[in-house]
Amino acid sequence: MFSLKGKSAIITGGGSGIGRAISVLFAKQGALVHIIELNAEAAAQTIDEISKAGGNAIGYSCDVSNQAQVIDIFNKIGNIDILVNNAGIAHVGKLETTSEDDFTKIFNVNVKGAYNCLYAAIPALKKSSAPVILNMASIAALVGITDRFAYSMSKGAIYAMTLSVARDYMADGIRCNSISPARVHTPFVDGFIAKNYAGQEEAIFEKLSKSQPIGRMGKPEEVASLALYLCSDEAGFVTGNDYPLDGGFVKL
Ligand code: NAD
Repeated sequence: MFSLKGKSAIITGGGSGIGRAISVLFAKQGALVHIIELNAEAAAQTIDEISKAGGNAIGYSCDVSNQAQVIDIFNKIGNIDILVNNAGIAHVGKLETTSEDDFTKIFNVNVKGAYNCLYAAIPALKKSSAPVILNMASIAALVGITDRFAYSMSKGAIYAMTLSVARDYMADGIRCNSISPARVHTPFVDGFIAKNYAGQEEAIFEKLSKSQPIGRMGKPEEVASLALYLCSDEAGFVTGNDYPLDGGFVKL
């Protein structure tokens, strides 16, 4: 079940958190994993974990917001069956506290970065026998989280990008879906707490955990499990949709 044997998978942001868990699980299930990362040291740690478990992974230093870099690396990689657009950054602020620079930075990484990877991947994906794209959205796209103006907008763009790509490339056999996680305990969340709530880390961690109906944050491995299903041949009928993974956040 859910074997990725013989598949070539690109995972952006595979050096940390959700991207690392997806890289490790996909390699365990037999994929050759290509990690596209801004942070080469973080990518090397993921690759080390994969190698020790007997899997295969290669790292590429790359800023997904730089189209020339992305195209160059995707051309070097060649065959692709799976693209996971996971790299992303956060920004805290309402509209009035979002500067033009903040807005541009978030959109360059979260939106243009995903577009760049899709643009570079589509020619190779068209040649795959079972091509699939998975984009990492967020519940911010579905409910517009408080104080996350630019971030919520960027994830809304990922949601729409997923539907548009699924529709346009259905005839080429390419499936495209997104996952919308609620809070998942990764360095992304730890960094946010450390930056904004120094000295109250434990209390804020507890508060954020309890703010999710299920009473805790998600685990990166739980996102990876859904990602594996969506990218596997068993999900051959699944395309053009977003899958909240949210401990009840959106509906309860
Ligand atoms: P993380 O910060 O732990 O990992 C993100 C990785 O992306 C890092 O290794 C970072 O170096 C890399 N990256 C950042 N900018 C990049 C760039 N320009 N080019 C290449 N790589 C880059 O984050 P995470 O929590 O694992 O989040 C992964 C994705 O999931 C993000 O898109 C995030 O928006 C989304 N998400 C996270 C949560 C959460 O609570 N953690 C919730 C919903 C959605």
